[in-house]
Amino acid sequence: MASTICQYCGVDLEERPPGQEVGYLYGVECSRCPPGARRSLVLARNERVAALECPLCRAAIAPAEGHPDVLSVKEMTYEVCAACGERNGVVAVRKLRDVGGGTV
Ligand SMILES: [Zn+2]
Ligand SMILES: [Zn+2]
Repeated sequence: MASTICQYCGVDLEERPPGQEVGYLYGVECSRCPPGARRSLVLARNERVAALECPLCRAAIAPAEGHPDVLSVKEMTYEVCAACGERNGVVAVRKLRDVGGGTV
């Protein structure tokens, strides 16, 4: 959970309360990649997106939250250092989608 000093710049987080930032993680297993190259991917986005692109074969994956290749979608809330802006830790995780059976 939250630490009391920033692990990046060492600022005291009780004196400089950190902010929060939300990001989204999409667990993807692209069915259009060649079988030998196919693997589980986690794509990070700063906001919920309508479509993703496979970074390996460039196939469009849409809708991002309804496509069968998208195994999980997580809303991550990060604690962000007020001094250096780095993400210090995860405050909360909310599962928006989880089809199960995946390896992500
Ligand atoms: Zn692909
Ligand atoms: Zn910091």
